[in-house]
Parts: sequence; C-alpha cells; structure tokens
Amino acid sequence: MSTLQKRDRSALKICANCVLPESFPGVQFNDEGICNFCLGLKNRNDLERRKKKYREKFESLLQEHRGKSAHDALLSCSGGKDSTYTLSLLKEDYGLNILAFSVDNGFVPEQTYRNIRDVCEKLGVDHLWLKPDFRMLRKIFREGAERNIYPRTVLMRASTICTSCMAIVRFSALRIALEKRIPFLAFGWSPGQIPLSASVLKNNPEIIKAMQVAGLAPLRAIVGDAVGPYFLEEEQLQDAGRLPYNISPLAFLDYDENTIKDRIKKLGWKDPAGLDANSTNCLLNSFANIIHENSYGYNPYAFELAALVREGYLRRSEALERLRQPADQKTVRLVEKKLGL
Ligand SMILES: [Zn+2]
Repeated sequence: MSTLQKRDRSALKICANCVLPESFPGVQFNDEGICNFCLGLKNRNDLERRKKKYREKFESLLQEHRGKSAHDALLSCSGGKDSTYTLSLLKEDYGLNILAFSVDNGFVPEQTYRNIRDVCEKLGVDHLWLKPDFRMLRKIFREGAERNIYPRTVLMRASTICTSCMAIVRFSALRIALEKRIPFLAFGWSPGQIPLSASVLKNNPEIIKAMQVAGLAPLRAIVGDAVGPYFLEEEQLQDAGRLPYNISPLAFLDYDENTIKDRIKKLGWKDPAGLDANSTNCLLNSFANIIHENSYGYNPYAFELAALVREGYLRRSEALERLRQPADQKTVRLVEKKLGL
C-alpha cells in the first residue's frame, strides 16, 4: 500500500486576518475577507484585563490548597514544548510540588523520553509514566484511521486519533489525581487550544460524567472493557467534592514561543526529529492530521493557529507555513507499519 498523501487544498479561500479556511465548520467571511471568528474578537486590552482576573483566581486557589496533599498538582506532561514549559513555571515560579504524568501511546520519540527524564531530574520533580497495552491502542488508532468514530462537532480542534488518545490521557490523569487526592490538574494548553474562561475550572461531576460517556462509548465499542482502567469508576464519578480544579496557566500567563523554547532548552530539552510543525512530542500526529484533512477539508490545527494569530501570539505567515508544511514521509510510513495499515 502506498504512503498516505495530503490532498492539495491551495485553492481554498482563507481569512485575510487569521488562517481559518472556508472549509472550517461555521466560518463566514465579510466583504473584506475577514472571518466571523475575527470579527467577534474583543480588543486586546480587554483580553489582558481578563487574563489578570484568571491569574488572580488561580493564585488565590493556590493559597487555599497548597501543601494539603503529597503533591499540589498533577501535570499532564506530553513532553512537548508547552507542557514542559508549564512544568517549569509551576515548579520554579510558583514553587508547587508537582507530579508530572505522561502517557506512552507507542509513538513517543526517543528524544521525548530523554527530554522528560532530563527536565524532571533538573527541576527535581516526581514523574509517572503510564503505558497502556499497545495492542489495545493500535485497534483504537486503526479504527480512527479507517472510519469516523466521533460526531463532526467533536473534531473541530483535533483529529479522530488525537481525540481518542487525549480522552485516555485526560481521564487517566483525572483518575490518578482523584486517587492521590491532588487538588490541581494542570495542562499545558496554549491560548489557542483553550478559551480563557476554562483556564481555571473546578471540575463539575455532571459535566465529567457526560464527557466520560461521550469519550468512553466509542472506544468501548472498539476494544470493550479493556479501556475501562483509563477512565473513572462509577464510584469516582459520584465523589464530586474531591474532583480537582483544571488549570491551564498558559492561557492566563504570557505566551511567547521563543521565550518558551529558550527556557526549556536551558533545562536540557531538545527538539525531537521527524515531527510535523504542530507537534513537539508525537510521531503519530502527522499521520492523524493528513487523515483529518483529507476527510474534512481542513487541518485540525487550523482553529488553534488561527486563534494564536488573531490574539497576536503568532505571525500569520508562520501559521500558514505550519499548516501547509508537507508531512515527513518517513514518519508517516513508520506509523502505517506500526499500525499494520
Ligand atoms: Zn479570521
């Protein structure tokens, strides 16, 4: 079988201000070619004021909860640039006692293993790896490559494969935080990946229950109860009072990619080889992106990059370059081989 190729979409109309293409769900352009997402954005001063409000909310929650458990925060650490940077901020700037947590999905580059180990050693942070049975993950990823297992609305910001993997990561992290009574569950989402309004959020049992049903059912249909251990038990879903706060500090702190790279490189982090422009930690990503783009007509990173451009974190030309960059064919072949496609 020939290696998966990205279809040519260079004829698509793209917002003149951000990078959303006309194929993105719900997008509309005005006469100047500006999209409705850009037209709806409030001014930047307002953004700074709102960021300050969430920063203060986070700091006051820290006062209340720090030091009450063996670890103050469980950080979901993919080993990519953003979660590694979040780890250093929470440890060095906020002095939190962190348990960093990573899931090995079978496509972690060797350099990412070394990055996680070296950064955690240098910062003096505890770290936990979870490696789910790869035969189970392989079935889930293969199904996600061959058919749509989620409603389209779920896939606006991530590919099918990424959505499946992230459900396992997020619920495993939540489960461990609950079991260890850790009050904060931290993520390295960029300001383009999470709305500011969700950057400091007490988990609500009804919402978690609904999210677990939506996330678990499609995976259970593929691999049965084997996926159960990566989600919450029924009794954990009942235990509302102990649910941690989700915190995504990069949404309310400064976000600058050069500052991020400089800081983590000082901690020994190095760029892994063979990755696409939108991942600094996962070899599966390019493959998952091409499948998404060929099925839905837009890159699953378009929404995130458009938001970063719109809010002034990233140059438009840089975002366009990342969205158009061809995949590393060697990496795509490696993924196809490992998935048996
Ligand atoms: Zn736009």
